[in-house]
Amino acid sequence: MSPKPMSPKPMGADPLSPDAAGRTPGEDDMTSTGASSIQLPHGALAVIVVRDGRLPVGADDTVAEAGGSAILVGSGTEQGANELSAAHHIWFAEAGPGLRPARLAEALAPLLARCSLVVMPASPDGRDLAPRVAALLDRPLIARAVSAELRADGSDGASSGGVRAVVARLDDRVLVPIETDGPTVVTLAPTGRATGHGAVTTVERVALAERHPDRNGDGDPEVMAVLEPDVLTMDLADATRVVGGGAGLVAGLDDHQATEVFDRLIRVAGVLGASAGATRVATDAGWTGYERQIGTTGVTIDPELYVALGISGATQHVGGLGAPRHIVSVNTDSSSPMTAMADLGLVTDARAFLAELAGRLATGATEAPRTEEKMKPL
Ligand SMILES: Cc1cc2nc3c(=O)[nH]c(=O)nc-3n(C[C@H](O)[C@H](O)[C@H](O)COP(=O)(O)OP(=O)(O)OC[C@H]3O[C@@H](n4cnc5c(N)ncnc54)[C@H](O)[C@@H]3O)c2cc1C
Repeated sequence: MSPKPMSPKPMGADPLSPDAAGRTPGEDDMTSTGASSIQLPHGALAVIVVRDGRLPVGADDTVAEAGGSAILVGSGTEQGANELSAAHHIWFAEAGPGLRPARLAEALAPLLARCSLVVMPASPDGRDLAPRVAALLDRPLIARAVSAELRADGSDGASSGGVRAVVARLDDRVLVPIETDGPTVVTLAPTGRATGHGAVTTVERVALAERHPDRNGDGDPEVMAVLEPDVLTMDLADATRVVGGGAGLVAGLDDHQATEVFDRLIRVAGVLGASAGATRVATDAGWTGYERQIGTTGVTIDPELYVALGISGATQHVGGLGAPRHIVSVNTDSSSPMTAMADLGLVTDARAFLAELAGRLATGATEAPRTEEKMKPL
């Protein structure tokens, strides 16, 4: 997307720099440096943790659920603000590299005290930060909701101050409504409901207040290293690249052969830095695990890239795709719905395509497979 008009407004000194009296900003008052004058909304607000400019999966869904208001915290937040498509009012605050969730929660809590509904993506960082913020604000936490809104109970439609949310349980087979009577923190599963580009009206840089250095380390573990998730085993919902397989990938094969093809799909996807997904036809047949099923009764994903091999694009499948930036469809039917919605449609046999890809990857056309992938031929 094209960059949005930015109007950064530094709201205070560098939060990490001591003042003239030698005090670290915020030493006496957590919200004293710039942060105290931030006017966050009274209603709903999305809190998005950004790492090196990368938004978490479900960021736009979360912002849309909060009505378009969001504060971005972490590293590369200005870049993250440019990537958001569902926001109309964005605040962004650099917390520097190496996220310290306990310290971040302490800096954020006073600012969020006025917001009745605080929504965070149910991403790893969101799941880490949300309970800390909820505990500091003494508010209930609703984890991994599929929707959340302010309750408007009065006859005049005025907000009651409480929140109405829906959570999905038992592998998303049961939807449970939850209501609270007061301000609430919610983590939101990717919903795929963020549509189009919001009209950003304001983007503000803000400074979060810092704690006294003597209190460093409280509640935050010492970070030895940050490891990227293993695409072979990571939660499909968090994957930024997904290669999905459907019935067309194994057309004409028996169950045993089909299972082998899906195993190959997982390995080839891994070499491409992608996670493997599947349609319900594939999981119901037992060709691959249910945890790989994408769709309304499976996992909701929101990747940058989705490659669909032999997938028709039924609404129940597409309903779980989110809004991938790029879609590639490999299908013998040039008019299949999946190909119709793809940026690139390859009209060819999906299994032959996968075999060709495996051969090229194994012969060094790209980076070598990792150790566990070398144990089996692609
Ligand atoms: C209540 C309900 C919930 C559901 N939930 C889900 C869900 O969560 N997720 C989900 O995925 N589905 C779900 N479904 C099922 C869904 O309706 C579709 O049946 C399913 O998504 C189709 O899977 P498919 O694309 O693999 O198979 P098909 O629809 O059979 O499509 C196969 C595709 O492969 C192509 N093809 C055939 N041969 C080749 C070849 N050699 N090479 C390349 N392409 C080829 C065909 O042209 C076709 O487009 C649900 C259904 C119901 C009723």
